[in-house]
Amino acid sequence: MGKPTGFQEFNRELPEKTPAAERVKNYKEFVHPYADDKLNQQSARCMNCGIPFCHSGCPLGNIIPEFNDAVYRKNWEEAYNILSSTNNFPEFTGRICPAPCESACVLGINKPAVAIEEIEKHIIEIAYSKNLVKPVAPLIKTGKKIAVVGSGPAGLAAAAQLSKAGHSVTVYERDDYPGGLLRYGIPDFKLEKSVVERRIKVMEQDGIKFKCNTEVGKDIAADELVRNNDAVVLAGGSTIPRNLNIPGRELKGIHFAMDFLKQQNKRVSDSKFTQEDILATGKDVIVIGGGDTGSDCVGTSNRQGAKSIKQFEVMVQPPAQRTQHMPWPTYPMVLKTTSSHEEGADRFWGVNTEEFLGDADGNLRALRVVDVTWELDVMGRPMKFAKVEGSEREIPCQRVFLAMGFLFPQAQGMIENMGVELDERKNVKAKEGVYRTNVGKVFAAGDMRRGQSLVVWAISEGREAARKVDEFLMGHSILESKDAVNQFEQVF
Ligand SMILES: Cc1cc2nc3c(=O)[nH]c(=O)nc-3n(C[C@H](O)[C@H](O)[C@H](O)COP(=O)(O)OP(=O)(O)OC[C@H]3O[C@@H](n4cnc5c(N)ncnc54)[C@H](O)[C@@H]3O)c2cc1C
Ligand code: SF4
Repeated sequence: MGKPTGFQEFNRELPEKTPAAERVKNYKEFVHPYADDKLNQQSARCMNCGIPFCHSGCPLGNIIPEFNDAVYRKNWEEAYNILSSTNNFPEFTGRICPAPCESACVLGINKPAVAIEEIEKHIIEIAYSKNLVKPVAPLIKTGKKIAVVGSGPAGLAAAAQLSKAGHSVTVYERDDYPGGLLRYGIPDFKLEKSVVERRIKVMEQDGIKFKCNTEVGKDIAADELVRNNDAVVLAGGSTIPRNLNIPGRELKGIHFAMDFLKQQNKRVSDSKFTQEDILATGKDVIVIGGGDTGSDCVGTSNRQGAKSIKQFEVMVQPPAQRTQHMPWPTYPMVLKTTSSHEEGADRFWGVNTEEFLGDADGNLRALRVVDVTWELDVMGRPMKFAKVEGSEREIPCQRVFLAMGFLFPQAQGMIENMGVELDERKNVKAKEGVYRTNVGKVFAAGDMRRGQSLVVWAISEGREAARKVDEFLMGHSILESKDAVNQFEQVF
């Protein structure tokens, strides 16, 4: 434990951000690093709890009090070794994780939680700057060949772990560059793409091969991939967006959020695309959907110079604080104001869109919306909604971005060709903890298996699936499991 009285002496402080009016002029990240003494103070706030609830809050089982202590002592190599023993990519989670560890932090019961996510980001950035992040040479080469389909965080984590275990790994990606949603979903202002590229370089030095512009099930036959490899990991993400099939859906100016965000990410990276430009510049924009994707559309619309931005959510406005239905240490569904919201947008809850209205040329000119109220169950969860009489109105707009989540992975092509079974939600069927599908040597991880989720869960699933593949091929595995916490305690 760094400083026994740290939690009494220091308040939670987050690093400074570039002011909103400045940062919307470009797509760069805008959260500045802590000064040395601030980082030291923030790590000193950790109480090294007897039962560190932060461990169990983190889907990766990050060993948080130990790395906080190493940071306090400025032992960067130790901090990096602890963090990287459970998390392959802290540079991603340190930037964009909703930090369930912080929601579970014991200090959070009566004071603001330890700034775990920021500390994590500083550890990995310091490790890169001190050249501590090096390719991992496996002790043995097993001679086994593994194909990973999809290069999002799940595929990348599986590939990194399997390579560490001595297998030869090739990652197949249908896009022109690896990273999945880290590359072409999440905007640069949350995660600059140089951060993804830096990690891919390390993985290439590990010996992992990346075959981009290669769609399995189209450019390579799925059964051929299975035949030519000792195991296959499917990590293709959840890619079919939820649509809003109401009158007027065919009008020009209504787009899926991902089509909009992907284009802008490509523009920022100077990557080519052939589709017609989707731009918010000078338009009245309405984003339908109140989650992360919707918030990224708000931030991107502001940077493109939208005339006005509104965000509609059909659900009720979440409470600002925990309620009795979401006590500590659960992850609370409270009101979240993102950095994109700080940059400007009018947010509305309990609004249902009933019709898109167009002009004579087939261009979107307005939405017809209605207010709704929700009936809640005993746990405070919304059950069904009813229209508020007389609340129907038109809201002028020329661009709508549909950000209502993703339903399931694309079945057509790879999944159908491989004969992989789907579960009742149409995700790839492979039990958590087993990760193996009905097709003998085919495994699945990430959003393709668990449904739309978070980067931290994708990394966790990629690591766990890799361990199961290793066990399947070798009879046992040298890879860390989620119980690494216990292993760590034995080693240190
Ligand atoms: C706009 C947006 C913002 C988000 N923001 C956050 C956030 O701030 N924090 C957070 O934690 N989570 C966020 N998420 C969720 C997070 O990005 C996902 O949960 C995570 O990326 C899932 O990882 P994955 O590896 O399973 O799949 P993905 O990242 O979706 O990667 C799948 C990859 O597989 C490739 N692929 C699919 N099929 C094939 C095939 N047949 N052949 C070859 N390649 C194929 C795809 O091209 C893609 O590159 C966000 C999601 C979106 C859409
Ligand atoms: S729960 Fe919070 S205070 Fe306790 S060990 Fe974890 S980070 Fe430190």
